[in-house]
Amino acid sequence: MRDAAPQTIYLADYTPYGFIIDDVALHFDLDPRKTRVKSRISFRPTPDASDKTFFLHGENLSLVSAMIDGTPVSPEVTPQGLTCDVPDAPFVWEAEVEIDPMGNTALEGLYMSNGMYCTQCEAEGFRKITYYPDRPDVMAVFTVTINGPHPVLLSNGNPVSSGNDTAEWRDPWPKPAYLFALVAGDLVAHPGSFTTKSGRKVDLNLYVRPGDEGKCAFGMQALKDSMKWDEDVYGREYDLDLFNIVAVDDFNMGAMENKGLNIFNSSAVLASPETSTDMNFERIEAIIAHEYFHNWTGNRITCRDWFQLCLKEGLTVYRDSQFTSDMRSAAVKRIGDVIDLRARQFPEDQGPLAHPVRPESFQEINNFYTATVYEKGAEVIGMLKLLVGDAAYSKALDLYFDRHDGQACTIEDWLQVFEDTTGRDLGQFKRWYSQAGTPQLSVTESWDHGTLTLHFKQHTPASAATADPQPYVLPIAVGLIGQDGDEVHETTVLEMTQAEQSFVFDDLGTRPVASVLRGFSAPVVLTQDLSDADRAHLLAHDTDPFNRWEQGRMLAYGSLLAMIREGKAPNKDWLAGIRAVIGDETLDPAYRALMLGLPSQSDLARALSEAGDTPDPDIIYAATEATRAAMADAFADLLPTLYRRHTVDAPFEPNAKQAGKRALSNAALSLLTRNDDGVLAQEQYDAADNMTQQLSALANLVRAGRGNKAVEAFEAQWKADRLVMDKWFGLQVMEADPEDAHEVVETLTKHPDFNWKNPNRFRAVLGAFAAHHAGFHHASGAGYRLLADWLIQLDPVNPQTTARMCSAFQTWKRYDADRQDMIKAELDRILSQPGLSRDTTEMLTRIRG
Ligand code: ZN
Repeated sequence: MRDAAPQTIYLADYTPYGFIIDDVALHFDLDPRKTRVKSRISFRPTPDASDKTFFLHGENLSLVSAMIDGTPVSPEVTPQGLTCDVPDAPFVWEAEVEIDPMGNTALEGLYMSNGMYCTQCEAEGFRKITYYPDRPDVMAVFTVTINGPHPVLLSNGNPVSSGNDTAEWRDPWPKPAYLFALVAGDLVAHPGSFTTKSGRKVDLNLYVRPGDEGKCAFGMQALKDSMKWDEDVYGREYDLDLFNIVAVDDFNMGAMENKGLNIFNSSAVLASPETSTDMNFERIEAIIAHEYFHNWTGNRITCRDWFQLCLKEGLTVYRDSQFTSDMRSAAVKRIGDVIDLRARQFPEDQGPLAHPVRPESFQEINNFYTATVYEKGAEVIGMLKLLVGDAAYSKALDLYFDRHDGQACTIEDWLQVFEDTTGRDLGQFKRWYSQAGTPQLSVTESWDHGTLTLHFKQHTPASAATADPQPYVLPIAVGLIGQDGDEVHETTVLEMTQAEQSFVFDDLGTRPVASVLRGFSAPVVLTQDLSDADRAHLLAHDTDPFNRWEQGRMLAYGSLLAMIREGKAPNKDWLAGIRAVIGDETLDPAYRALMLGLPSQSDLARALSEAGDTPDPDIIYAATEATRAAMADAFADLLPTLYRRHTVDAPFEPNAKQAGKRALSNAALSLLTRNDDGVLAQEQYDAADNMTQQLSALANLVRAGRGNKAVEAFEAQWKADRLVMDKWFGLQVMEADPEDAHEVVETLTKHPDFNWKNPNRFRAVLGAFAAHHAGFHHASGAGYRLLADWLIQLDPVNPQTTARMCSAFQTWKRYDADRQDMIKAELDRILSQPGLSRDTTEMLTRIRG
């Protein structure tokens, strides 16, 4: 059933629920098409509640029976839920509903994936399981019994009893319904255990489908590392006797933090050296940590309403990034996060989908699991920590956990603990949560007899979400590098609060070069009037690893933009600067590999449009290719050594050290392949005993136009492995020539293994295509048409995944009039589909503007 007119929900309209739930008992009789769910819920009126209406959410349920205190009742049922007359005193609600897990292709609520039952309830999926006040501020303890002919029957909390085809679970911690989970199927457990700091032994299990047992060890270790880290760094101990993770193949997102029963997209947990790349390992470690860390930041302390989503997500992303920094290289992690922020969050914040980290309205909450809420939300916490200092941050977090344990909270509660521990007024800082848009920060310098003055200006463009943005509190980390390359002023954090503000450094001998926004201390677009020579100086000497990399990137931008606009040759000073860094054996190979990267083509398009130019995807593509070729020539003598020296001979280990070496040797390989017709890539392909080496070799072969044989061999070798086949599909799209990328996609979608209802497979092909800048934006419009066709096909089956992929169109106003017309026609064509989902309708109407 679909809603006729989507409703907009406003933060300002929040009212508490009129009832308190003391206890929930659920009983499941599993059946693929007719699962019966019985609920028994003890309600009592909230004292002094302003709204006493008894409303329970419910969608796609058939109500079999309902009783209050044992007497049958006839509630008034709508497609969204039910209302019923209830006593003005404590009462027990009992209902039985029937649901259809097999027919649930949206993967929200109770659904089936490869014969197993699983659930996804965040944000509003529980209402597809039974009638309930499906809002995060209603917290309750759950007892769950599951009946079904399956060896494994799981729910949240601790097991109470289990017998033949039945199991009972009790979760002692009050939780909102979005953290409910149930799993049933023929699964095998990879066991482990962890002893908490107070000496409690916790059983750990990673449940997978038979056949995947060999892909569990890494995830299990990552879980133990996460549990230990959260004790060491945040003092947070686990609070149940059991922690289960389940891998499922059909999942809309990465993973879900259900209490004691995390459910993971199999791509976010299953790993082995033969089937997973170094990047996969790092991502899996981070996601396991992320979901585990939610146990405190999300579950023990949850959100009052969905507008507060960043309260758990921003903080938990921030925590998982700290974890990865500690486990691996902090500099490499920071640079990776900034690349990602610029690639995903900046376009969102600068386009029609712009919204504050804490949005103030939505139609479909699923559309707000965004880079802004998650990644910018984490940046805001990083800034807060920088402003108050590490010690005050720890104190504030301790207070947060003490004061709010067991509660459903708001951003106001979060900021209050910082105000209370530091005495600071965070009124202005709060704008980071309430205003949309990326601040533009510019800095100019003046120099006068040993005194350097930095003049800063900040300006945030207006957006649909924020008409008149006010100045932010900006922590700007600055250091000064002398002419001889020594640091003459170590990092200091300037606190900018005004639209324009100057800061003075005196007692300097000769004029230094200012290293501004070290560590990317605020999520802004910085314009600094540095000469190429000054940038090259920082690239050679900056002590801040982020800024050192950043100056290389700025030079690369300058070089590429000059080539795009004026047909200039690549900047020699930039090439020389990069050359010195990549050849410096004292530097971390992973860091040097990053130095060999270029801004992506869509980042270049963004830079051009920020400067008021219209990006031409073909010219951007050609400039990128020419620049890669120039790098291959300029570094030709160095590359073979880099490649050999960093090829790992030892048995594969997914640690940062080996991964860094492989990243550097593979970065060298991709340049070498330009001049050797793929000979070395073929050699590496033939010798590869791990997926990192195999996939990188394959990508290079395909890019060089020599991949046919290897593509076939790869498919023959891996056709039984779903996750590896996702890579096979994706790689062919990513490496396709822009001219025929849409044809490659069409061919792949006809492949018998293109199961488009599986979100991972759909994303592997269509998601990769949307990210293929020159291919997607093909001048014929074929790319737009193709993506639109597939979005139309997927929407009735899986609205959430469809809607997320609509963001491929969010940058459409950057491009020329012809492309804009073609995109607009496709947006309108999708919007005119009868019965289009609320998710997709909201996304496209916002994008269309
Ligand atoms: Zn999360």
